[in-house]
Amino acid sequence: MNEELEKRIKKVSAKKFGEDLVGWFEQEMRDLPWRENQDPYRVWVSEIMLQQTRVDTVIPYYNRFMEQFPTVEALANAPEDQVLKAWEGLGYYSRARNLQAAVREVHDTYNGIVPDNPKEISALKGVGPYTAGAILSIAYGKPEPAVDGNVMRVMSRILSISDDIAKPASRKIFETAVRELIYKENPSYFNQALMELGAIVCTPTSPSCFLCPVQSHCTAFEEGTQQELPVKSKKKAAKTVELLTVIAENNKGEVLVTQRPEQGLLANMWEFPSFEKDGSDISGQMAELLLSDYDVEAFITDEEWMVQNHIFTHLIWKMQVGRAMVNQPAKLPEQTRWVSKDEIEMLAMPVSHRKIANRWKELT
Ligand code: SF4
Repeated sequence: MNEELEKRIKKVSAKKFGEDLVGWFEQEMRDLPWRENQDPYRVWVSEIMLQQTRVDTVIPYYNRFMEQFPTVEALANAPEDQVLKAWEGLGYYSRARNLQAAVREVHDTYNGIVPDNPKEISALKGVGPYTAGAILSIAYGKPEPAVDGNVMRVMSRILSISDDIAKPASRKIFETAVRELIYKENPSYFNQALMELGAIVCTPTSPSCFLCPVQSHCTAFEEGTQQELPVKSKKKAAKTVELLTVIAENNKGEVLVTQRPEQGLLANMWEFPSFEKDGSDISGQMAELLLSDYDVEAFITDEEWMVQNHIFTHLIWKMQVGRAMVNQPAKLPEQTRWVSKDEIEMLAMPVSHRKIANRWKELT
């Protein structure tokens, strides 16, 4: 930590700061399902779901997930397909797979009890420094920092920290700052309050400083630099990949679906056959690839039936969706099958493919 920051931290009365922040949180905290109790498993699931996803979106998923998998044991013993299906629509599916792998480890190695120390909890799959800090502080009341984007924004303003929050190395600086200021009487509420403040008061573009419980501690407010902080460099633009996706139907009204590989993007999810677009002869390319990859002869009935985008953090799929009537070969490749309208409901699919499936069901 540099000297300047050390001085700024010393200027803040940690006790008063904690009291103001936690006092405000006690009055204003939103009623959220994962705040019903401090069960570490419930806290853990909520924190994983909330990564890169808004609170309002997460609530119904969380409630359904908890109904299906209320305990470590229930999630550890569930088939992966069922877990992915419950996660369908939340995106970033590797989070669900890692969560289940880690929960299985807790079940097998720790007798179903989520570890309460940094070393063991950080060694679990998918548990990074933020999630570890959140579980240790929120569920176990340990004075550990839990630094996410909201917390970095708030702390950068309170202490005028101008390190680029897009750089992974900056997180350590914020963790050190939180460690210095954390309210030892109630680390759980302290961390939740910082996150809550970032979500509803100290927002990215228009912080409500006049409603802020820690305004009297805030350097950015004092100096009028709220709009300049935090410093965040721009991400590289996402790459666009143009895809041809085919609804390939047989004469029984079933459609061809294929399962993605076990590793990598959207691992193990089901989707319609998709190919990278190459040139302008779309019908020709769809028919050729269906024959070479799936051994089906296709008659393309509509080469631009719909267009569907799928936006990932680093990548955009621009999917041109066509329809085709196909024959039924004696044998399909592995991880590929025919499904009826009812069966397709049971598969875990990425949101973009689920939308295509819904359109297909509506129209046929
Ligand atoms: Fe954020 Fe304004 Fe509060 Fe400072 S005073 S923490 S800038 S809302």
